[in-house]
Amino acid sequence: MVHAIRIHEYGGPEALRWDEVEVGDPGPGQVRLRQTAVGLNYIDTYHRSGLYKLPQLPAVIGTEGAGVVEAVGPDVTTLKVGDRVAYAPLIGAYAESRLAPADRLVPLPSWIEDRQAAAMMLQGMTAQFLIRSTYAVQPGDTILVQAAAGGVGLILCQWAKHLGATVIGTVSSDEKAELARANGCDHPIVYTRENFVNRVKDITDGQGVPVVYDGVGKTTFMDSLDCLRPRGFMVLFGAASGPVPPLDLQLLAAKGSLYVTRPTLFTYVAKRDDMMTSAADLFEVVHAGGVNINVRQTFPLRDAAEAHRALESRGTTGSTVLLP
Ligand code: NDP
Repeated sequence: MVHAIRIHEYGGPEALRWDEVEVGDPGPGQVRLRQTAVGLNYIDTYHRSGLYKLPQLPAVIGTEGAGVVEAVGPDVTTLKVGDRVAYAPLIGAYAESRLAPADRLVPLPSWIEDRQAAAMMLQGMTAQFLIRSTYAVQPGDTILVQAAAGGVGLILCQWAKHLGATVIGTVSSDEKAELARANGCDHPIVYTRENFVNRVKDITDGQGVPVVYDGVGKTTFMDSLDCLRPRGFMVLFGAASGPVPPLDLQLLAAKGSLYVTRPTLFTYVAKRDDMMTSAADLFEVVHAGGVNINVRQTFPLRDAAEAHRALESRGTTGSTVLLP
């Protein structure tokens, strides 16, 4: 038996329970991992609250982790006991030990620490597909990142800057503005006292930006559309403030033939090859120093409820890791 954080019903952070669960031996295609670090992500709060429904309850939530292979299934030849690996997205991460399909695990190079790995797989591969694929950021672009001091936000700012873009980012406080600035955000906007649409227009000489990366959702979506130049890309990738209500598509014509997409990492890394390519691209930019992974908070795994409260109350910056 091992400890894991499970939900028995959807709810607030109090729904997270420190349970004992049976892990068992790995079956065909599986390995058993002893987890050394677990990533905290906003999607964990959607799974906990029921915004995203799970196949069944009770369930171990969490989608990202790193650890050491401690047993392999009968037919697994790609991994062996003792290998260090990390993964995302794969539900069931909030546990001391877990079973996982071998083909969803990424071997870790020795220079990546476990905490760093657990902090970067989900947020880093998300940033990777957003700026390399959904809208491929070009040198000279000026882009807008919502929640620039958050986990995905800090990686997006650094990576876009590394690619030669000018980065505008929104944040809720002066402290977060400083942090974003130190991580490649050229123009942090404290949206609690400044109108970010007007500021984006000022910064871009009235032109607007070619792309907005918006993981905030409900409270920012319509204003984000107003930051775009004609034929710009609205990339809605999350719902930290709540889901965006249905949209009248005619608006996109009126606002300048805009594109809207709602991408998820699950689609972009569904095939193993794509996942490995994305992870390799991420590891390369981190190794080259283009992106620094900011593990700015750690919590014991058993205190996951406290970590959720901090994340949902805007109390975290950068990435957060839970320690089993
Ligand atoms: P963050 O660290 O960015 O935390 C969320 C941030 O959103 C807060 O710190 C806060 O920043 C801002 N925010 C604005 N309004 C609210 C609100 N009402 N309540 C809480 N926070 C608010 O989280 P992550 O980096 O883990 O995730 C960022 C977004 O990316 C999430 O929406 C997540 O779901 C999404 N995501 C999507 C993926 C995909 O595949 N599509 C994959 C990974 C993440 P501030 O104080 O500056 O306002």
